[in-house]
Amino acid sequence: MHTPSHSAPAPAEDALRRADLRVTAQRVAVYRMLIEHPHSSADAVFGRIRETVPGIALPSVHNVLGDLVSADIVRRVSLPDSDRALYELAEPANNHHHVQCVMCGVVKDVDCAVGHAPCLTPAQDHGMRVLEAAVTFRAICSDCERKSSSND
Ligand SMILES: [Zn+2]
Ligand SMILES: [Zn+2]
Repeated sequence: MHTPSHSAPAPAEDALRRADLRVTAQRVAVYRMLIEHPHSSADAVFGRIRETVPGIALPSVHNVLGDLVSADIVRRVSLPDSDRALYELAEPANNHHHVQCVMCGVVKDVDCAVGHAPCLTPAQDHGMRVLEAAVTFRAICSDCERKSSSND
């Protein structure tokens, strides 16, 4: 099996066009970086693409992320054990949750308990219509667990 190089549009270009955003090298680079490294901060995105995107600066990364978030193709997630906002692709539009290590901050996706929003029903809704539950399981990853037990 071989993959023809010109038939299917690349996911980054495709997502930008569907969102009516102009396809630019910077937007494509940021989007591709989030495919490979979800839950990245703006700094982390910048650190990974600065070598490959000529002339990119941290403020442009913030601008690109802002554009992608406004267009609903990237989601901004704030997690209790991250001191800055993290970004992940908004597609597929699944109601997933996160498990985060309280020591090193590594983040992984976990499937929503029931498979659709709002996933959890609060004991009280205070008259509000619940859209979704954003759950963060605070945890300790196996690497950190190992490090802390070997220090004893
Ligand atoms: Zn950890
Ligand atoms: Zn996620």
